[in-house]
Amino acid sequence: MDFAAERARLIEHLSSEIKDKRVLAAMSRVPREQFVPPESRHLAYEDMPLPIGLEQTISQPFIIALMTEALELKGGEKVLEIGTGSGYQTAILAELARFVVSVERLAPLAESAKKVLDSLGYRNIEIHLAGETLGWPQQAPYDAIIVTAGAPRVPPELLAQLAIGGRMVIPVGSRHLQELYKLTRRRRKVVTKNLGGCRFVSLIGKGAWEE
Ligand code: SAH
Repeated sequence: MDFAAERARLIEHLSSEIKDKRVLAAMSRVPREQFVPPESRHLAYEDMPLPIGLEQTISQPFIIALMTEALELKGGEKVLEIGTGSGYQTAILAELARFVVSVERLAPLAESAKKVLDSLGYRNIEIHLAGETLGWPQQAPYDAIIVTAGAPRVPPELLAQLAIGGRMVIPVGSRHLQELYKLTRRRRKVVTKNLGGCRFVSLIGKGAWEE
């Protein structure tokens, strides 16, 4: 299978909706086939989520592009990702920002993502196993926060880890259907924009859903 050609076709498809050239360029550099299980490699460049084991999924490329675009990364940022999963979104962020802290609650996923990201040569990523508090307060504040699992509400403990002027994207809703929110933290208020409907696996933990 010609993955490079497949990848180019996917980027072409995404470019009808995604206008940020940096996001499209980053996605054309990251080999998604290396982040999906061998049995679904032939589907790596279809615009759909795919199972990655332990009942989790690698997100749909369009949603990844939309969320990344909303973060407005210019290159100098420190970014927090909640839900490393396959590590694919992590790689895209590492292409576009200075440093990425990514947190995952399932150890086998954190380990396999780390292995792939190391083998691809990324040196500006830190992966941590999730602790008691949502996110990774140890290195806050972050210029951008991306949550790749659905939450029942915007967790205040995550907003607290966002810098003034920072952007956060997060799916909020029920366990099966959410709206994608973009929040911008201003000095005295938080500005919220709805980017549309989406479907994510659940964000688990204190301040989110029960297991
Ligand atoms: N960005 C990933 C999405 C994986 S699915 C990808 O495209 O591959 C969402 C991930 O969030 C799952 O791996 C799940 O284990 C993880 N997750 C759920 N709740 C979490 C929490 N509180 N902290 C960290 N990770 C969490």
